[in-house]
Amino acid sequence: MSPSEPRIIRLLMELRRMGVADTRTLSAIERIPRELFIAGPFLDQAYENTALPIDCGQTVSQPLVVALMTQALDVGERMKVLEVGTGSGYQAAVLAQLCRRLYTVERHKPLLAQAEARFKQLRLHNITARMGDGSRGWPEQAPFDRIMVTAAAPDIPPALVDQLKPDGIMVLPLGDVGGQDQELVRVTKTADGIDIHPFLPVRFVPLVEGLPEE
Ligand code: SAH
Repeated sequence: MSPSEPRIIRLLMELRRMGVADTRTLSAIERIPRELFIAGPFLDQAYENTALPIDCGQTVSQPLVVALMTQALDVGERMKVLEVGTGSGYQAAVLAQLCRRLYTVERHKPLLAQAEARFKQLRLHNITARMGDGSRGWPEQAPFDRIMVTAAAPDIPPALVDQLKPDGIMVLPLGDVGGQDQELVRVTKTADGIDIHPFLPVRFVPLVEGLPEE
């Protein structure tokens, strides 16, 4: 598939119109074929600006939300980045275009396996994925320049703040696990704590502690 796919171009124009101005974010989205991350019945919607179901009762976020979260994370090309909630692997693939090394954690084994196969197919060799409870971060690889959480929690997991470098940025949905009243926030780690800036009302699946029974 070529990057000039008309459906991708249309999606990029829509994202621009909706406030995504960062050209690095837009070109990362242009380079990742979202259709590879979507299951058969939804393929015709791969480049629609809509969230779609994936296995294990989870969802791949709406492209606008992926773009705004990516833009808010302000990733530099030498950075080490952690994503919590691999899901389909789409957000990880987009982030991996922008940083040196991307670590991603998923609690559902089948999702992790599918995502890893996609990373391999796309030759995204700077992604390391593992199964685990991402609310505890990835202590062996910490500290991180940036952290993105793609599942909602009522509070910011303290382990993630601990694993963020000074002046590091974390983007995550905070709020009700029921899906109502969630907001994306940008957290900056400062000398005396953290600054929290809400920037978008959203609806994410919950961040669940522990691992599922298999
Ligand atoms: N970033 C994903 C979005 C997936 S939805 C994508 O681009 O497709 C959120 C994901 O977070 C789900 O796959 C869910 O299983 C996972 N998740 C929820 N709680 C988690 C936890 N504590 N640790 C790791 N992954 C978690």
